[in-house]
Parts: sequence; structure tokens; C-alpha cells
Amino acid sequence: MRKIAPSQGPFLPYGRQLIEEDDIAAVTAVLRGDWLTTGPAVAAFERALCEATEARHAIACANGTAALHLAALALDLAPGDRVVVPSVTFLATANAVRLAGGEVVFADCDADSGLMEVPQLAEALEHAAAAPGGPLKAVFPVHLTGQCADLPALAALAAEQGLTLVDDAAHAIGSRYRAADGNTKPIGDGRLSAMTAFSFHPVKTIAMGEGGALTTNDDNLALRLQRLRSHGMVREEREWQHRDLAFDADGSANPWYYEMPEVGLNYRVTDIQCALGLSQMKKLKRFAAQRRRLADRYDRQLAGLAPLVRPIARSASSEAAWHIYPLLIDFAGAGISRARVMARLKAAGIGSQVHYIPVHMQPYYRRRYGDLDLPGAQAYYERTLSLPLFAGMEDSDVDRVAAALAEVLGRG
Ligand SMILES: *Cc1c(COP(=O)(O)O)cnc(C)c1O
Repeated sequence: MRKIAPSQGPFLPYGRQLIEEDDIAAVTAVLRGDWLTTGPAVAAFERALCEATEARHAIACANGTAALHLAALALDLAPGDRVVVPSVTFLATANAVRLAGGEVVFADCDADSGLMEVPQLAEALEHAAAAPGGPLKAVFPVHLTGQCADLPALAALAAEQGLTLVDDAAHAIGSRYRAADGNTKPIGDGRLSAMTAFSFHPVKTIAMGEGGALTTNDDNLALRLQRLRSHGMVREEREWQHRDLAFDADGSANPWYYEMPEVGLNYRVTDIQCALGLSQMKKLKRFAAQRRRLADRYDRQLAGLAPLVRPIARSASSEAAWHIYPLLIDFAGAGISRARVMARLKAAGIGSQVHYIPVHMQPYYRRRYGDLDLPGAQAYYERTLSLPLFAGMEDSDVDRVAAALAEVLGRG
């Protein structure tokens, strides 16, 4: 293969947004309008999410972390209640449980896909049952990279154990899971999960600057999430408890009145963000198709580097929109450390990233739960490296990255 000079093109980060003129026009239109927040763009964005996911309700919020926090709060965890979270995920999945007062039970993952499948969930439940602790209340599967585990099987095990299923789909807007009947359904459709959390951070498939959302088919959960998103405040007359304060002598509602039956947050999202999100949602199919095309091209261009370099295991249970393109690399076999590979790629104008340091290894969680042995997570973590993947990339960018990686690994 050809030698790669350091300045062969613009720097390729591991992920970034693709903003086009119509996105800019959509945001500008909101800035000229009457509502900067809690206006029509928020409602329109929520409707677009319902359409894309086929869920009954979508609740847009400040970011994906806020979405996970709201979902965890809506579970009404008592102190000590436990929630299963796969260790190979971003910090926020586990932190949501802690912030809502629960305890985290870290689950292992399949060493080649990074996904918590049924065996790893069953193992986590067994360990948890044998250890002291509060009741197990929920499980938070993560659709890592945009793939998903066998969701019907996970949901069946969760239901059998009386656990609420909340999926972290921060990577998976536009991805589909395989339903029990063999057909695929949009992730976030609410058929198998109580709530699904999304993120619209610029590295994710749809960009809002900061932004997140939950989808659910449960009417009560939807109301609860809306309430928690805005201070725990209730504006619907029928929900008011203090009827004497709420209504005038003639029985009409006092125009200033609002009520707070529980404590909540300000996790609202602006119309500015939602205008961008709505404009981007119109491109979801195109962005997802482009990500799939680029991932397939990477697979082909890197095939010659096997067995030193392999794509992660493809899940038969899903059609991924590929938020990231992670590889499994035998760094010892290649005789070069991951840090050196990243540094040399960077020198060639190529960003890369590790998704993720298993969360159970973080000092906070080691202090709380001690040293856990999760060999699948360990094996996945030691080998993984994500290469650039975003909708604005072209085939030639993939070829350039593949050639640079071959060169760095001494196989160029
Ligand atoms: C990005 C991400 C989050 C958090 O989303 P933010 O919008 O950045 O707060 C949560 N979980 C996973 C798996 C993520 O990748």
C-alpha cells in the first residue's frame, strides 16, 4: 500500500456533525420568531421522533444524560434498589442510576460485540441475587455502536424477573432491532422497553448541539417525564390537589396557578436546538444509509489486515445505523501499543477513540463496589479502537484511513 503523508486531507475526527444550509436556515427562522424555548419547534421535534421510532410519546430534553436521569427518576427507586447496567458504555448510563438513588449491578458483555446479551444479563442477575443488596428493579441495555442485542430475549428475561427495561439508545437513532416475528422494528418503538433514551450530541447520528429525548408508549410515564423535566410542576387542572387555591369562587381555574406535587429539574430543551434536531431528523434515513455504506467499505478495505484487525462481531438481532466504527485490534500481535497507534494516526490527520473504558473500572465505582471481574468487558476494552465515521465522510476518506492504519501496523 501507498505511504501516507501527514497532510493528505483535512483532519478526520472519529465523529462529527454534518450541518447543511437548510439546517442553518431552520435555526435562523427560530431566532427570528417568538419562541426560543418550550415552543412549537419542541413539539414538532417530538412528533418527528414519534414518527421515526413509531413510539406513542417522545419527550425531548437537554441531553442524553438528562434523558437517562429522567428515566431513572421515573422508576421511583428506593435507596438500595439495584439496576443492571452493562459495564461497556458511557459513564452516563450508570451515573443515572446513582443520581436517582439506586445501586448499579455491572453486567459483562460479549467479548466480540461489546453487547450485553442474555447470558451476561442472566449472569449479572445470578451474582446480584447471591450478594447482599436491595431488590433488583430494572435493566438498562445499551445499543453499543448502534447495534442491539437480542432485544426480545432480553425483554423476556427482564419481564420474567419483574425488571423494568430502559434502553440507552444514544448510539442508535435510526437503528432497527429484530422482533420476535423476525421483522425489524425501529429502536425506541416502546414495544419491548418502558423507556428508550436518545442523545443528539454532535458526534451522534443526529446533531442538536446538546439534546436528548425519551420515547415511551406508556401514557402515565410520559406525563411523569414531562413533569420531572420541568421542576415537577403540573399545569393540568384535573391533576391539582389544592382545589381551594387552584380555583376561583365561580369554579374557574386561577390564571396564575401551578402546582408542584414532586421535586423536578429544568431539563428542558430550546426551540433553537429542536429546530436543528427537526431539520436533521428529515435526513435520518440518508445519514444512516451513508454510515452503513461507509462501515461496509471499511470492512472490505480492512479485510486484508485479518486476523490482526477485525471488525466487531455483527449482531444478527439488528440493523445498525452505526454511530461509531470500532475495530478489534491485536495490539500485542502487531507489536505496537494502542497509544502509539492513536498518536501515529493523529499525525496522519486521523482521529480515533476508545469506546469505552469499562465503567466498573472508574475510581468512583471501584470505591463503591470493589474490583469486579468482567472478562468479556476486559477483552473488548483491550482490543477496541474506533475509526472516523460520520455522514460527511466520503469513500476516499475511508480508503485513506484504512491505508494509514495498515501503514501504522506495519502492514502497509
Ligand atoms: C452520548 C451518550 C450518552 C450521553 O448523552 P449526552 O447527550 O452526551 O448527555 C449516554 N449514553 C451513551 C451510550 C452515549 O454514547
